[in-house]
Amino acid sequence: MTTAEPIVPTNTPPTLAAGQPARDTRAPLPRGGNPLIEGPLIEGIDLTKHYRIAPKRLFERAGSMQALAGVNLAVARGDSIAIVGESGSGKTTLLRLLLGLSMPTSGEVRFDGMVVDAKRDRLLWLRRRAGIVFQDPYSSFNPRRTIGQTVAEPLVATRAPGDHRERVAAILDRMELPSDAPDRYPHEFSGGQRQRIALARALVHNPELLVADEPVSALDVLVRGRLLDLLNELRAEMNLTLITVTHDLGVVPRVADHVAVMQAGRIVETGTVEQIFEAPREAYTQQLITALPRLPRSPRQP
Ligand code: ADP
Ligand code: MG
Repeated sequence: MTTAEPIVPTNTPPTLAAGQPARDTRAPLPRGGNPLIEGPLIEGIDLTKHYRIAPKRLFERAGSMQALAGVNLAVARGDSIAIVGESGSGKTTLLRLLLGLSMPTSGEVRFDGMVVDAKRDRLLWLRRRAGIVFQDPYSSFNPRRTIGQTVAEPLVATRAPGDHRERVAAILDRMELPSDAPDRYPHEFSGGQRQRIALARALVHNPELLVADEPVSALDVLVRGRLLDLLNELRAEMNLTLITVTHDLGVVPRVADHVAVMQAGRIVETGTVEQIFEAPREAYTQQLITALPRLPRSPRQP
């Protein structure tokens, strides 16, 4: 890991905030030039997450499994990071914690320096500033709501001022959807169109952070390429900080500047896209690179 990078997903814990109990062996990071201290847009600090497992049999005790085991990650404003790793490595769990959709067992998330806790105000505040796209937009759409209603959801939830309909029409148009889309229903659209609708919903309230969980995994190759291009264009146009989760390393060069590799609830390697692809340090990362199909690199990558 190089501290000169604009993003520092790191396994080194950042300086503890005043008032927090000091933790044994953790020396604070040196000040100066470290984006962790200068203020990333979002950071996860020493995050762990245990899930309770319901007993399978009568008289069996409820168990617990650790989905995250001490994850530190900081994403600088305007950066784009891909979180990669095989299925079950904890990627979605990490995203949910970063967005305040679930709370860590220990550790904390800070957005713009503020601790994300379960308080309603804080979650509303976070919701105003972040958008999310899931792998399968169909299951996150209500089939009985029009596309117009669906895309307007974040505007309604965050009580955004202004003309919602106008904003919805504008973003759907930007996503290259037909002008009658707002009055139609999810089942009338193809998978690729639905994912663009999901992207419209994630961005309609003009958030600073876009989080995408396996955004193209359900799409075929051609549609996938167009969606990734669109994601890149929007990133530049809207000045987005982007976190994309994928189990497919092939999408990484298309959307990301930096990569964090997850395995079994930990971040095992971080680096620029070039570092990860050209000189992966971990055997696990090397395996991911050789095992997975790659999409062609986008023109902006050398
Ligand atoms: P990924 O997104 O990388 O596939 P997840 O974060 O979804 O990984 O899951 C990490 C681990 O946590 C997996 O072993 C998964 O089975 C488990 N897990 C995820 N969500 C829950 C839950 N709600 N209850 C119990 N276990 C869960
Ligand atoms: Mg997942």
